[in-house]
Amino acid sequence: MTGDHAVPDHLVGLELLGDPALLVGADGQLVYANPLACRLLDRRLTALVGLEAESVLRLRTEDGSDWWECATPLGGDPTVRRRLAEQELTLQVGAVSRAVAVTGARVEGGPDAGGLLLTMRRVDARRRRDVARADLVSTVSHELRSPLTSVKGFTKTLLAKWDRFTDEQKKQMLATVNEDADRVTRLLGELLAVSRIDAGRLQLKRQMVDLGTLVPGVVTRVEAGIGRGRVLTVDLPGLPQVYADPDRLEQVLTNLVENAVKYTDGDIAITATQDDQLIRVTVTDQGEGIEPENLKAIFTKFFRRPGEKRQGTGLGLYITKGLVEAHGGEMTVTSQAGSGSAFSFTVPKGGLELSGIDLEALRSSVTTTH
Ligand code: ADP
Repeated sequence: MTGDHAVPDHLVGLELLGDPALLVGADGQLVYANPLACRLLDRRLTALVGLEAESVLRLRTEDGSDWWECATPLGGDPTVRRRLAEQELTLQVGAVSRAVAVTGARVEGGPDAGGLLLTMRRVDARRRRDVARADLVSTVSHELRSPLTSVKGFTKTLLAKWDRFTDEQKKQMLATVNEDADRVTRLLGELLAVSRIDAGRLQLKRQMVDLGTLVPGVVTRVEAGIGRGRVLTVDLPGLPQVYADPDRLEQVLTNLVENAVKYTDGDIAITATQDDQLIRVTVTDQGEGIEPENLKAIFTKFFRRPGEKRQGTGLGLYITKGLVEAHGGEMTVTSQAGSGSAFSFTVPKGGLELSGIDLEALRSSVTTTH
């Protein structure tokens, strides 16, 4: 991948290094990248040389901050600040995050004096979990920051200039603060659910649940929240009770109906079908639909369709799927760009016998204790 770009004599040694290595000039531009670095960055040497190192080497620290900003590796006197201690960072190449251990040394003399020599060791797969955690932290900090900034801004203004605002203005500001506080609470609830799902620690409080009552209840609540009717059809023909966690099922359904309300303008229908084994509930909307290339990723953590402007975190469908699967069901989606989507989930039918509980053992223990 070095291409035809001539490697300066004094840098030939780097060519042979067993780790990706790069030389950044004192002006912050890339002077050289060895073949392993080119591979890591997925670019030819000729395409790299002369580029702003900061924009090519997108490095983030564990808490999601920009490494170039925090470490200022090219700042200060190179003869005083000679070495950069090894640090594990996340390197973003296109859409991929890679964990790298970065070390560096400042160049003191010669043609590259004042520059920075960096090596980047790929950190093995065990570290990927930490990278995911760093991504999570950075997304979460971002998501928390905007409502908190608004809460802080409004409360500060109100405290400082209380007498200058009319009652109506004060009410409006407090309403915004209230909404933003709700947003933070919602996000924290979602994160808790995500961490439980990821750790396999989701505890279901199962009982016999009647979907025939639960579904209309959700519809009424969502519609009350938006102040108008949107769900035209609710068709749940004679469904038997299921052994499930009613709060979690409600969460699943609420998310699907709220999404249909939020992301579409057309009519919404909720229907159910059943066979011997399971009940399938489907929420259909007549909205814009989801493009085939986005459909694959729709249940992924933090996924939002490119350019999505409506408020959200991209966690809803991930949690929904996790909750459905915790019940032994399956979550699916079909969609046609331009004519709407249908999100379905299944719940295994029946009572305790489908929950994995040994009914015979339970019966005999009840008999012996009484
Ligand atoms: P959020 O709503 O917080 O973004 P979700 O996981 O619920 O998170 O949804 C992920 C993305 O999927 C949304 O950002 C939206 O772009 C898309 N989406 C979800 N439901 C629908 C729908 N019914 N129609 C079109 N797009 C949808």
